[in-house]
Amino acid sequence: MSDARAVVISGPSGVGKSTLIDALLRKPGVRLAVSATTRKPRQGEVDGTDYHFVSPERFEAMRDNGELLEWAQVHGQSYGTPKSEIRSNDEDVVILDIDVQGWRNVKALGIDALGVFIAPPSIEELHRRLHARGSETEQSCDTRLQGAASELAAQNEYDHVVINDGVEQASKELCGIVLRTPQGNGT
Ligand code: ADP
Ligand code: 5GP
Repeated sequence: MSDARAVVISGPSGVGKSTLIDALLRKPGVRLAVSATTRKPRQGEVDGTDYHFVSPERFEAMRDNGELLEWAQVHGQSYGTPKSEIRSNDEDVVILDIDVQGWRNVKALGIDALGVFIAPPSIEELHRRLHARGSETEQSCDTRLQGAASELAAQNEYDHVVINDGVEQASKELCGIVLRTPQGNGT
């Protein structure tokens, strides 16, 4: 078995990664590497589809058994990419929605992945989106916004930066990058 073509997508919480990735996943031959996490599911999130939601004990066991390609503490919870998620016999593009630490881990492992950073049009708009999503407590919003500055400072470590000003334009741009087609032709 070989590794699928990996594309890492990072960006601060609330910037619109999941929204843009959802559009990407509708394209044939694109799938998500489903991470394991100790955080609790949000309303509408499905175990095994959005994340493998696991206990801290199970996460530690996965880490200690060498089941994780990389892992990190993000906003006070553990997140990791199971190695099994990037193994493939096919030509699939596999999307890793991981943070800046994860991208650095992937690079350090020598994995030939493409890195795309999703940036907000402004910090004010990032605040607005995170609050508008309504998924976080006030404390969790604060933690996530505090982390945004250091995430944004790392954007030049990526191969591409896409500014998510409007979903349609950003989605076209991202599809073009991921599917290596001119903007808008990534069908
Ligand atoms: P992330 O996965 O990066 O944390 P989400 O995809 O959950 O972010 O998006 C956060 C919120 O912002 C959601 O309510 C989403 O509908 C909204 N959103 C995403 N992209 C845009 C955009 N370009 N303009 C306005 N709102 C957006
Ligand atoms: P959320 O809780 O909003 O779904 O994700 C929080 C952050 O964790 C996001 O920046 C997301 O990209 C990151 N993340 C999700 N899965 C992984 C993973 O497996 N590894 C790493 N390093 N980060 C992850």
